[in-house]
Amino acid sequence: MAERITGHTELIGLMAYPIRHSSSPAMHNEAFAYLGLDYAYLAFEVDNDTLEDAVKGLRALKMVGSNVSMPNKTVVHKYLDKLSPAAELCGAVNTIVNENGVLTGHITDGIGYMKALKDNNIDVIGKKMTIVGSGGAATAIEVQAALDGVAEMSIFNIKDKFWDNAQETVKKISERTSCKVALYDLADLDKLKEEIADSYLFANATGMGMKPLEGQTYIPDKSFFRPDLIVTDVVYSPRETAMLKMAKEVGCKTMNGMGMMLFQGAAAFEMWTGKEMPIEHMKEVLDIKYE
Ligand code: NAD
Repeated sequence: MAERITGHTELIGLMAYPIRHSSSPAMHNEAFAYLGLDYAYLAFEVDNDTLEDAVKGLRALKMVGSNVSMPNKTVVHKYLDKLSPAAELCGAVNTIVNENGVLTGHITDGIGYMKALKDNNIDVIGKKMTIVGSGGAATAIEVQAALDGVAEMSIFNIKDKFWDNAQETVKKISERTSCKVALYDLADLDKLKEEIADSYLFANATGMGMKPLEGQTYIPDKSFFRPDLIVTDVVYSPRETAMLKMAKEVGCKTMNGMGMMLFQGAAAFEMWTGKEMPIEHMKEVLDIKYE
């Protein structure tokens, strides 16, 4: 008789729409099986209209927790009891943890990025970084980097619908952390070059480089990079964006978005199970290799 699921198996969910394409169920279930942990992770098609009922269901079923993705990340806080400091600063939640009926919202994307850097022997703490983006991924990274102790951060964004959020993020980081932070228009390429020049690390935290912008980058030419600059991308499909290709040609150490993806999951996994995700095994399964 099959023994994987029993009467004791604990349930963890993923609430988002669309969600059937997600690699999170495969990742978490592989880690549960590898460690012999009695949990199951399932994806549920939940949008803003059904989110409140889904969270009530999580409570009623005494689920261990859930991941939350679009379009629910900025809405789900309404139905939770507590928020982590990073989730509060970001205004977004991607992980719910149920501790004896008390639901806490966390955001692990930024934690995932910072852990991926560390795992790749990149130490940005106390140093300056320049980052492009002010959407979901970017805000999580910017907030976590500031909370973790990055000394100085220059944020660039195009003047689109995310600009107000960028201003808000800069205000919150200035008020709540000791990180020195400034915001610039990405159209000012001379300023971008100047800020990258004295940064230890440069990060793309936008969808530039992935479909429909695959093959493109806002970095005009190789003179923006130098061999001892670290260049990272949140994009993981393709694994090598046009920007990372350019950075490698200059001789920079680079990191794509796969590590962030793995470690944001690992952080949630640890919150739910109290166990560390088997990182080296998962890197093999996901074919993650650092440059
Ligand atoms: P979002 O829609 O919340 O934010 C989009 C950002 O891109 C904004 O800052 C916007 O101003 C900027 N942007 C849009 N068009 C641009 C252009 N032409 N030039 C420059 N900037 C532009 O998106 P998101 O959820 O933050 O996702 C951004 C990227 O991060 C996606 O590629 C996503 O796959 C990736 N991501 C990766 C991980 C991971 O674990 N590695 C996690 C989350 C998101």
